Amino acid sequence: MIPESQSCRRDETRGQAAIEQALARAFWQALDGQGLPVMAALEAASRTVGALYGQIAAAHGAGTTCACGWVPDPDGDLIVLEAHLAAAILQPRARDLARMEAAGSA
Ligand SMILES: [Zn+2]
Repeated sequence: MIPESQSCRRDETRGQAAIEQALARAFWQALDGQGLPVMAALEAASRTVGALYGQIAAAHGAGTTCACGWVPDPDGDLIVLEAHLAAAILQPRARDLARMEAAGSA
């Protein structure tokens, strides 16, 4: 029998992979044919993640009824999000590299 914590972790990993794939797909589709400078596109993507954080944090602020237990901590959460951004830039995963090759002709 799988301990509940391992099962939850696997569900979380699967959910994160689904979000990563959906965001990457939307990014590449939006970028296609725009002629947008690369950094301008990535800046827009970063702002969108920040806006999503703000929306989710607002839904978990004072007087809200979400029962998940998460309490927004903008300073601490920003450190966590920055660390993930840095890790993805400094250590791209194999599937990211494969996608970059495919996009190399853009
Ligand atoms: Zn919640």
